[in-house]
Amino acid sequence: MIIIMLGAPGTGKGTVAAILSKELQIPAVSSGDIFRKAIQEKTELGKEVAEILEKGTLVPDELTIKVIEARLNEPDLADGVILDGFPRTIAQAEELESFLGKQQKQVNMAINLETPKEELIERVINRRICSNSDCKTVFNLKLAPPKIDGVCDKCGSPLIQRKDDNEEVMSNRLDAYFKETAPIVDFYKDRGVLESFEVSEKIGRMGTDVASELIEKIRG
Ligand code: ADP
Ligand code: ZN
Repeated sequence: MIIIMLGAPGTGKGTVAAILSKELQIPAVSSGDIFRKAIQEKTELGKEVAEILEKGTLVPDELTIKVIEARLNEPDLADGVILDGFPRTIAQAEELESFLGKQQKQVNMAINLETPKEELIERVINRRICSNSDCKTVFNLKLAPPKIDGVCDKCGSPLIQRKDDNEEVMSNRLDAYFKETAPIVDFYKDRGVLESFEVSEKIGRMGTDVASELIEKIRG
């Protein structure tokens, strides 16, 4: 099964992807995590994308597609994947469709999370992430704080804040989202695979709730 996660930064895509991955036993792949790891390890790719991530604009399609397709060709993803952060432009969505088509595969479900803009900024600023790359659990100082300040509940590693999780960079990330990524919601709607959810404090529905609803639906 091939699932993709859509939604602005801060909607909870990563949280939903992590729960679905665990429950459905399908690996989750985050394009942002791939880029951040490359930056941390100072690889060629890392050097190429570091400034882009710092600004909060999008990595060029050609490079992103090359990196993601190489990852999709790895054997652990042969039976399925949950893609978090890719595709993010119409060009990427079209390329993914033709890439999968060659293997008689297709995107089976596109999960779109929608959250009011003012909540997104607040969420991203309060987001803290486990520094252990095998864990990466996401916390929120207001909505889902860790039991001990600055420490991951699951593995005890220190929590860190992403460099781009600040108001200034977030404004660029939101611009990129509404201009480049939002249009692909209709792309997947047209293909009949779209599942949209409102995620908001106001209506009391969080990423964890969406994940439970989806698991029930998928398991029938
Ligand atoms: P978020 O959705 O919270 O903004 P991600 O971790 O998905 O964060 O992405 C972080 C950054 O990585 C983006 O701001 C962008 O620079 C880059 N990036 C990730 N995925 C893509 C993609 N599919 N196309 C272009 N750039 C990407
Ligand atoms: Zn952890």
